[in-house]
Amino acid sequence: MSRIRVTVWGENVHERKSAVVRGVYPQGMHQCIADALNAAGGIEAGTATLDQPDHGLPPGRLEETDVLIWWGHAAHGEVRDEIVERVTQAVWSGMGAIFLHSAHFSKPFKRLMGTPCNLTWREAGERERLWLTSRSHPIAAGLPDHFELEHEEMYGEPFGIPDPMETVFVSWFQGGEVFRSGVTYKRGAGKVFYFRPGHETYPTYHDANIQRVIANAVRWAHNPAPRLADPSAAPNIPVETALEPITERGPKLHAAGEEGYR
Ligand code: ZN
Repeated sequence: MSRIRVTVWGENVHERKSAVVRGVYPQGMHQCIADALNAAGGIEAGTATLDQPDHGLPPGRLEETDVLIWWGHAAHGEVRDEIVERVTQAVWSGMGAIFLHSAHFSKPFKRLMGTPCNLTWREAGERERLWLTSRSHPIAAGLPDHFELEHEEMYGEPFGIPDPMETVFVSWFQGGEVFRSGVTYKRGAGKVFYFRPGHETYPTYHDANIQRVIANAVRWAHNPAPRLADPSAAPNIPVETALEPITERGPKLHAAGEEGYR
């Protein structure tokens, strides 16, 4: 069986600007995540970053990406709309997508969700306890019913997302807040997973449970079917090609063979 091809996209800003972040992730968060995936088995992970031409996602790259992982925070606004559209189209066509931590405010996530995706937050190094809410879900495979991260940023409800297809994890924070920290969606032919942990000043992506969740999520989000060529196609079916014989009747707005409105 061929390996699942993953591209880990990182904005790679704080890794360069902050000595603290560089200390935790000397090769960047994207590389840390890719390394863990490459060690997980059955996955071949590469990276792409904001500063590269086309943000590392030139035409063709997403066609060769089964699952895209996105981490962004300080530079959401610098991501070009053309690339956001490219990512959106790829998801609609069948590419899997995993959005991590502050990617809740990334352009592609907001575009795919269609809601503000806002939340409450606090950076105080609190303990986060993640609870499985769906023990049999493939993204939770091999995980204990609950596990902890000693230091994390708090994200709290209300979380301005559409109602998820499934909620796989909820988080509790030391300060008392709770949060839907692992949620799934289908968007077009693509599967989408949002996973909350991963504040850049903490070693979250070195944590074995977190690495397992991300690897599980890659396998879950992978869609082996061929990509849809045009996920937005809305073809007109002429009377002559209807499956059952029909006779046209009543008034008509559209001319035969017309493109239709968009
Ligand atoms: Zn953060």
